[in-house]
Amino acid sequence: MSKKIKQIAIYGKGGIGKSTTTSNISAALSTLGYKVMQFGCDPKSDSTNTLREGKYIPTVLDTLRDNPHTKAHDVIFKGFNGIFCVEAGGPAPGVGCAGRGITTAVQLFKQQNVFEELDLDYVIFDVLGDVVCGGFAVPIREGIAEHVFTVSSSDFMAVYAANNLFNGIKKYSNSGGALLGGVIANSINKPYAKEIIDDFVKQTRTQVVEYVPRSVTVTQSELQGKTTIEAFPNSEQAKVYLNLAKKIASHQESKVPEPLTVTALREWASKWADHLLALERMESVSGSGI
Ligand code: ADP
Ligand code: MG
Repeated sequence: MSKKIKQIAIYGKGGIGKSTTTSNISAALSTLGYKVMQFGCDPKSDSTNTLREGKYIPTVLDTLRDNPHTKAHDVIFKGFNGIFCVEAGGPAPGVGCAGRGITTAVQLFKQQNVFEELDLDYVIFDVLGDVVCGGFAVPIREGIAEHVFTVSSSDFMAVYAANNLFNGIKKYSNSGGALLGGVIANSINKPYAKEIIDDFVKQTRTQVVEYVPRSVTVTQSELQGKTTIEAFPNSEQAKVYLNLAKKIASHQESKVPEPLTVTALREWASKWADHLLALERMESVSGSGI
């Protein structure tokens, strides 16, 4: 009997740290001895860059455009520690559906049974989650991924995108869609940022998987074209990513989240605005910043 491949999708708003986090998870899992494929599903097509010395790889869409008989193996590239890297790609900006690359790429891989053939332990999809429509919903909708995680900071737009994703997950949950594993809280350096995210997951009946601080070690690694796991394996930040990867590896039970309505989300945000203002007043009296 073939082993079960764990398929995970990581969503989040643009620029929130999906690719950085995903690549560090992939790198960490590979150092733990797992066979991993990272599948970039962002039209930016830079998901796997820090696994390959900062270099871009040809995307599935571009390669298929040049040669309709492309084999899945032609669009798989080896990265750090043997990680298989794929970029679905997208149309030129402003032309066509940005999510089409995902549909096309996933079809190609499924038809050719690539995940099984490579004997993978993990396939991690790195998906742009500002809009959970059409192609971007494919990993959730079609039972491709089993568990979804979202990267969010405590910024309102990031939380807003996470809440939209929860709506998408809930919608497809009755028809075999992927369920939510939890939130990866990124760039959490201040106590209030942790409180905001903690409150959001409580309201939406989910959980924080790991708190990842904003760190200059990540910047230094990225500038070297590497993940933190590769560039600074003994750093505190690498330990955080390793912990996160272990939690994802042992994660079993995903759930249907309870997204907030737009009105409830607005009210929730204003409550926090008042709270932060009060905190700021208190801190300016005591002389320390929040
Ligand atoms: P996304 O894939 O969501 O668009 P990226 O992973 O490309 O976002 O991250 C955007 C930028 O933020 C990158 O320059 C990355 O190095 C930086 N970044 C992400 N997470 C952290 C962190 N925890 N500490 C420092 N910089 C970070
Ligand atoms: Mg990215």
